[in-house]
Amino acid sequence: MSETRHNWTREEILGIYNKPLMELLYEAATVHREEHDPNTVQVSTLISIKTGGCPEDCAYCPQAARYHTKVEGNDLMTIDQVKAQAMSAKSSGSSRVCMGAAWRNVKDGPEFEQVLEMVRTINKMDMEVCCTLGMLTENQAKRLAEAGLYAYNHNLDTSEDYYKDIISTRAFEDRLETIGNVRKSNVTVCSGGIIGMGEKLEDRAGMLVALSTLDPQPESVPINALVAVEGTPMEDMEPIAIWDMVRMVATARIVMPKTQVRLSAGRTQMSREGQALCFFAGANSIFAGDKLLTTPNPDVNEDMEMFKLLGLNPQKPFTKVSQPKTVEAQDSQYRPLDEKPKWTRPGHTIERNETAKEKAKLVK
Ligand code: SF4
Repeated sequence: MSETRHNWTREEILGIYNKPLMELLYEAATVHREEHDPNTVQVSTLISIKTGGCPEDCAYCPQAARYHTKVEGNDLMTIDQVKAQAMSAKSSGSSRVCMGAAWRNVKDGPEFEQVLEMVRTINKMDMEVCCTLGMLTENQAKRLAEAGLYAYNHNLDTSEDYYKDIISTRAFEDRLETIGNVRKSNVTVCSGGIIGMGEKLEDRAGMLVALSTLDPQPESVPINALVAVEGTPMEDMEPIAIWDMVRMVATARIVMPKTQVRLSAGRTQMSREGQALCFFAGANSIFAGDKLLTTPNPDVNEDMEMFKLLGLNPQKPFTKVSQPKTVEAQDSQYRPLDEKPKWTRPGHTIERNETAKEKAKLVK
């Protein structure tokens, strides 16, 4: 069995990332086979339960209200709408539903109560439930855990050094604090990032240092390739080469042997051969459905054809961690505390974010 280390350095990780490709693939595939079934890949479905209108300024995101993109915002979905989408996801082979809301942080109140009910509903459908709702307090994490949440997603996005070139409305430490709050509950952690945002290789390695030195390491690490969306500050970024994705997946696999490594956004820009290399390098999860929140994603039938071609099987739910029990609202131990946490707002100027905001003002 591979050793799980929590003391990886940037230099060591860069050394792995830059190995001759065949050596890197062999090493990653070996670790992968020791810890996981190489022919099983989890299929997850992402549902955007509240789209657009986000007050944050993430340079990659079309849901930020300050940029002018084609994203149409909507209010929080109803429980019935979410249930219908989850049922259809389950019937197409998904074992996990991730619900995303374009919020800066979770606020106690009717909308959070509605999300808790969505969590109860999907957990009772015997699917793994994940949420990505922004920054979160310990009490809120415990309330989600009680409802039956399996995982909470909160991406580090990039290295701590590069973070301030991407986002000015919150700081890297806020991300770590939320992950820490999730860890105080029994909810598993999903945290990863995006490559292709103009970062250096050192930043990719830096992000993997930040993730792999968490103890415990995240149970799930999504690796996204930037999808450059018109109107965002990153609209002109060139797509990354598949080799960057393969190297990033392989390196993540080696430094986090037990983690579920997720091939996330950017799959429409990848060939099947490219995706097959990522699976060989240790990716063992994909997102299904024609949209990933707001950006395009391969159709589920295309993915099932790819699975057939590669001899892959969809992973059953609760293979890695057992199913949490759902506590009904009336039996809950935890109450809303109406906390007012002081999340950071650095507010420094990021030129490209300002330019995109000014352009949006002219169009709106
Ligand atoms: S990534 Fe999340 S927090 Fe950032 S602007 Fe988009 S929805 Fe808001």
